[in-house]
Amino acid sequence: MTDVLVCGAGVAGLATACALGALGLRVVVVDKQPGIRPVAKGEVFQPSALPALRSWGALSRLDEQGALRLSRLVTSDERGTPLLAIDYGDLPEGSRHLLAQDYPGILHAFGDSLPSTVSLRRDTVVGELTMSDGRVDGAWLTENGRRYHVRAGLVVAADGVSSTLRKAIGITGLRHAYPHRLATFEVTASTAIEAFTAYRSPRGLRLVYPLPGHRVRVYAQVEPHELRGTDSARSWYDGLVSEVPALGWLSDALPATPSRPQVLPVSRFLAERLTAPGLALAGDAAHVVHPMAAQGLGCAIADACALADRLAEHYGDAPNLASAVDRALPAYEADRMPALAHNQRMSHRAARLITATSPLARGLGGRALRRTAANPRLLHLMAYNMSGLGIQPFSAVDRLRQFGLLPHDRLPIPTR
Ligand SMILES: Cc1cc2nc3c(=O)[nH]c(=O)nc-3n(C[C@H](O)[C@H](O)[C@H](O)COP(=O)(O)OP(=O)(O)OC[C@H]3O[C@@H](n4cnc5c(N)ncnc54)[C@H](O)[C@@H]3O)c2cc1C
Repeated sequence: MTDVLVCGAGVAGLATACALGALGLRVVVVDKQPGIRPVAKGEVFQPSALPALRSWGALSRLDEQGALRLSRLVTSDERGTPLLAIDYGDLPEGSRHLLAQDYPGILHAFGDSLPSTVSLRRDTVVGELTMSDGRVDGAWLTENGRRYHVRAGLVVAADGVSSTLRKAIGITGLRHAYPHRLATFEVTASTAIEAFTAYRSPRGLRLVYPLPGHRVRVYAQVEPHELRGTDSARSWYDGLVSEVPALGWLSDALPATPSRPQVLPVSRFLAERLTAPGLALAGDAAHVVHPMAAQGLGCAIADACALADRLAEHYGDAPNLASAVDRALPAYEADRMPALAHNQRMSHRAARLITATSPLARGLGGRALRRTAANPRLLHLMAYNMSGLGIQPFSAVDRLRQFGLLPHDRLPIPTR
């Protein structure tokens, strides 16, 4: 018997283990992968994640690894002329930068920060959930061919976008696939890249940001079959550079025969519910947005913090952990759902502004970006929402101003 069984040791699972372990709960976190894989995935934390990373000790580990602090998020045209720049330096103290590190580095930092009450088991697959008295009370695990049962007062499904646990418990949700894919690759560059920059090219998004060790991550929006049957990846890279003159430096950074980029499908998803009796969803198992918005890591960490906060509220006066869990889970769902729904809308709007390729949508998007940049209050709202610090949505009137259908306001900049 353990207090909490966390299924999945991605950022959501490890953050949950940090947060619940910090309450003194005994946590078993398991992952089917034998080790940490070098994949391109969440690498940029929004400022809202920093306090939790700091309190778990993961921030100092990321700093020791050389994680980069980026203070600007820029949207530019293909020539590099900025259309809109978010300066995180204007946000409240302690939240004034993004943090960039590669995905394996992030998982190592979390793994090294787990409290002593947490045990991490890799190469262990979570199979069927088990139930008693109408609530989830554990799961069957398989480790090195050995199948065994773990009973737990709470099971957390942090098993990623294709979550089998979410499906097994019957939680559905709406998934929308974007019509494009993202191709991604990493180069070592002698040119200093300092900002997280999304270029709007006639063929959609080109996203660039620095990683430690003079490395640079590049994402390019591609058609579903664009790279299929390409004999030489070099010609694809040459096309990328010629379409976006601001990426001219890439020509020198690429090897003579670069390998094909990794290509990923892109979708958005929000589960209809975050909980079932005895079980909570966290991270991509519950919600996914377009990667260009860089929101997934922050949302996973916010899930972990909210779950721990709601459990802490009820643990003291409940007769046992199961009844504290039964009281905490509805509060967790009520807490997170509005923020996640807001995050879905905001991330989708941001993605549309940058990834649209039709002349009309590009024209409208460019206008909205320029007009937002020219209105200090709208720019502040955008920075606040993107940073994950809270919910301050644009009103319908703000949207009319953003698209130039109403003149700019002189309203004050919100103070938080
Ligand atoms: C290309 C790309 C770029 C992104 N960039 C950013 C970014 O810059 N910033 C940002 O904030 N977000 C970004 N995101 C989103 C971010 O990566 C995710 O939101 C985040 O990593 C989700 O973490 P997770 O732990 O929920 O899921 P995952 O990382 O998918 O972890 C799930 C884990 O569960 C394990 N698992 C699954 N099934 C089982 C099972 N049955 N038994 C045991 N283990 C199991 C898997 O092995 C996996 O390790 C990006 C996403 C993509 C795809």
